[in-house]
Amino acid sequence: MIIGFDADDTLWHNEDGFQATTRTFEDLLSSWADAAEVGDRLFDIEKRNMNRYGYGVKAFTLSMIEAAIDISDGNIDAAHLQTIIELGHHLLDRPAELIDGVDDVLESIGRDHTLMIITKGDLYHQLARIDSSGLKDHFWRTEVVAHKDPGTYRELLGLHGVLPREFVMIGNSLPSDVLPVIEIGGRGVHIPYHVTWQMEHADPDAAASHGAPTLGALHELPDFLASWL
Ligand SMILES: [Mg+2]
Repeated sequence: MIIGFDADDTLWHNEDGFQATTRTFEDLLSSWADAAEVGDRLFDIEKRNMNRYGYGVKAFTLSMIEAAIDISDGNIDAAHLQTIIELGHHLLDRPAELIDGVDDVLESIGRDHTLMIITKGDLYHQLARIDSSGLKDHFWRTEVVAHKDPGTYRELLGLHGVLPREFVMIGNSLPSDVLPVIEIGGRGVHIPYHVTWQMEHADPDAAASHGAPTLGALHELPDFLASWL
């Protein structure tokens, strides 16, 4: 079988950094609006910009700058903007912090299966993270895509000569990693991360209703796949 792995919040920590940065951003804007309003307006701007910028830290940083200008009615000063840019740099420069046990899990599953990374986000940042993770040798292919929808998975699998029925995708996001793969005839395993980006929220029952198993942690995956496949 070919086993696809999502990367952010599946192989390494990611969303916790975005959430911590959002809290810092809320503090930074606290003289103009309370934390809840800052958070909501930032999220609205991120959503609005999604089709322009796609996913990732650079998109998030541009949205923070736009939100800061918007929330302060144009009164934000250069020192605050500089701090926001540095928050973005800090997220970009953060080395890949691996999820517990990931190396052993990949080593074990890689003995019986062929492994891929399929991640979405900023191309340059994702490639840098894959390199800095030290995990690259476990994988047959690493792919950075703009969207994780059924069409993208179908095209990608076709490109590598993989049939959907030979493919299992592992990830923390139901709408990105699990449901679109099931839709094209593959299988998905959901391993939730302890925090979920608002944009990736989905009804957990949706997974069960499509026959997608949910595991508590990545280290459960080798035993689970051994009995499931
Ligand atoms: Mg993810």
